Amino acid sequence: MANLPIVQFEEQIIKTVEDNPITVIIGETGSGKSTQLSQILHRRGYTKSGVIGVTQPRRVAAVSVARRVAQELGVQLGDEVGYAIRFEDRTSDLTRIKYLTDGVLLRESLSNPELNQYSVIILDEAHERSLNTDILLGLMKRLIKLRASNLKVLITSATLDGEKVSQFFSECPVLNVPGKLYPVEILYSRERPTSYLESSLKTAIDIHVREPEGDVLIFMTGQDDIEKLVRKLEEKVQSLEEGSCLDAIVLPLHGSLPPEQQVRVFCPPPSNCRRFVVSTNIAETSLTIDGVVYVIDCGYVKQRQYNPSTGMYSLDVVQISKVQANQRAGRAGRTRPGKCYRLYPSRVYQEEFLDVTVPEIQRSSLAGSVLYLKSLDLPDIDILNFDFVDPPSSESLEDALKQLYLIDAIDADGSISSLGQSMAELPLEPSLSRTLMEANENGCLSQALTVAAMLSAETSLLPAQRSVHVSRSNEKKRKHTSLELPDGSGWGDHIQLLQIFEQWDQNDYDIGWCKDNDLRVRGMKFVKDVRKQLCQIMQKVAKGSLDVRSSERDKESQRDYKTLRKALCVGYASMLAEKMIQHNGYRTIGFKHQLVQVHPSSALKTDDYGMYPNYVVYHELIATPRPYMRNVCAVEMKWVIPVLKKLEKLNINKLSGGRSIREGNDGKHLNLSEKEKPSVTEAPDDRE
Ligand code: ADP
Repeated sequence: MANLPIVQFEEQIIKTVEDNPITVIIGETGSGKSTQLSQILHRRGYTKSGVIGVTQPRRVAAVSVARRVAQELGVQLGDEVGYAIRFEDRTSDLTRIKYLTDGVLLRESLSNPELNQYSVIILDEAHERSLNTDILLGLMKRLIKLRASNLKVLITSATLDGEKVSQFFSECPVLNVPGKLYPVEILYSRERPTSYLESSLKTAIDIHVREPEGDVLIFMTGQDDIEKLVRKLEEKVQSLEEGSCLDAIVLPLHGSLPPEQQVRVFCPPPSNCRRFVVSTNIAETSLTIDGVVYVIDCGYVKQRQYNPSTGMYSLDVVQISKVQANQRAGRAGRTRPGKCYRLYPSRVYQEEFLDVTVPEIQRSSLAGSVLYLKSLDLPDIDILNFDFVDPPSSESLEDALKQLYLIDAIDADGSISSLGQSMAELPLEPSLSRTLMEANENGCLSQALTVAAMLSAETSLLPAQRSVHVSRSNEKKRKHTSLELPDGSGWGDHIQLLQIFEQWDQNDYDIGWCKDNDLRVRGMKFVKDVRKQLCQIMQKVAKGSLDVRSSERDKESQRDYKTLRKALCVGYASMLAEKMIQHNGYRTIGFKHQLVQVHPSSALKTDDYGMYPNYVVYHELIATPRPYMRNVCAVEMKWVIPVLKKLEKLNINKLSGGRSIREGNDGKHLNLSEKEKPSVTEAPDDRE
């Protein structure tokens, strides 16, 4: 790919990298940062002394770019070029260029804090400002001092925000790679559409009928809308009686698409054919699709945000930032002058859009990250005042400490416990890690591993859980009509997930069984694989004292799943709720009090009087728009009492080691007024 802009700068890049431990490279999306930088450094001998690691915030980008680079170098994927994403490692001893998610690199640094296997680390897509990349930026600052003589760090960004990263690294050199971007004409709508799906459809058809050849990239907010629009577009294009003499192909693009479908967007279309790619914000900067001349931008993105004061997640459709809008428009000008149709008025862009996207660190639960940083045990790093490009709020740091304290990962004085140390080694959120540790103590690890694996796959790979329930209506269509998906025996969703997997196990992992039950085969196979990997990791973590047999005790508790539910109660101690008297609403206990409901899709059953159990744990709280508990499990009062006792002793000053936690957004950082802050964040489905 000698014609990509970055390749023209090879000499300058090599000279700067040679002379400096850290280099920031800013280049337009599509200039070749992800695919070419690693190859340039490989050509110039940087793989002789170690591996070149390239981090990506998104799983799909890590896989796709690795595949591309392997193809360009003419090697087998997994040999010289490989990738590692959570629960999937396609590297070998031969691997010299390794694409990996930022989360996987963080995990690697747990067992090898100096990351000695790497001669070069490229933190790609730094403009995305993912939580894990932000932590890595802080760690790199330290690492470079330790390995000044044999490590090179490159940070790439698609936006000028890279200057901020350069300041963070004490004015390290910034190389600007000018991309050849053709002019893009921006066309605004006069007003906001009532339905952006219909408006996107109409605009796409207008382009198809009126405009010369060139592919169309349409930004939608999520998988559901993408699938709907793809269907509608296909119908509409087929029914066109007159107009475009071009054929059309409509392709979806999002993080949970099977790999074989993802690669379709990179295949050039047949001649005389226009492609419509309907995508999430993944095509904004992570993946570059050639041939796009028209962009349709609805101006929205689906974001997930954690609110530390309520412990609640919201998944909302919110307005994009100006930076994102400009990135989207830029996609139209890569091969020739293009057009961007903004389905909103220019006033909205000017007055309502934030200048830059709020970094993920300021909109996420930090329990996992704080535990991680504490487990590194770096004497020179003060976790609460960790050197972040943009620090999180003190409220979310406090929230993280309290959560960790309730699940025994840290002691009352904030120091990490040996349990916490073991938990940090598991690639799971702290609540599930704690559940596994407890389950191992109490003889139900085999079940807990299944629950953890099912939950890890649930959002992206299984049909949404409600489909498990909905699928019953498909009963007649099934071949094995005697089959019925388990219902959790009334104990709730964790138990239901366990029973589903166990039933599949009893059916010898039969693919037909999955199909008959409307369960995605790929998703279920993934669960099986994740379960196996978790079991291996537990083997290491528990240092031999692993109790993974499907024990007699498991069988004994089979009827009421008591040991497993108790382990869940310990793991989810910061996510407990108590039923309100005489109605089915709950109040969260722990350090926040929130009135919440059981999600309507839940498998949790009411008793003969129509009442839910008195105490439950939940996997997450979501505001959609009412506060709901998702994935709920019934627990017993006697297991809740120790948690309440612990709560009484909670002292945040002691937890933070007697020091005050620095306020986030302290002037030199993003300074957004509350009003300007959007209320939500990035969909996490395609992250690590
Ligand atoms: P950047 O990182 O600067 O955004 P990339 O290195 O990702 O740029 O992309 C450079 C070129 O490689 C683009 O033209 C893009 O279309 C192409 N490319 C990237 N990944 C793939 C892939 N998986 N298959 C085919 N082409 C790809």
